[in-house]
Amino acid sequence: MAHRKQELEALRDELIDRFERYKAHKEQRGGPLDKDMEEQSIELQNDDVIEALQQEAEDELRQVMHALERIDNGEGDLCEECGEAIDARRLSAVPYTTLCRDCAELPEATRGGGE
Ligand SMILES: [Zn+2]
Repeated sequence: MAHRKQELEALRDELIDRFERYKAHKEQRGGPLDKDMEEQSIELQNDDVIEALQQEAEDELRQVMHALERIDNGEGDLCEECGEAIDARRLSAVPYTTLCRDCAELPEATRGGGE
């Protein structure tokens, strides 16, 4: 599964890069708002979008790091929830997944705790 690990490492670097760019974008702001109202509201909307994108990149990054950890532990292709092997096609479609398809489809609340 070395291939998947390389793929995840590339994805991790890309996400860190994306995350940093969103962060830099947000930090460029904060000067006095001297534009007309319309432009201000567009900017505010844009900030929300950046915020959401940054959050998304962060969540994805967390998942990628988690998947990499599991690969290092030798359990990268086993479902975190039920311990079954994760389908290889699923792994190549969603390289950072740590759940088999059955478990991934269950809502969070009904997972875990069961025998
Ligand atoms: Zn499972």
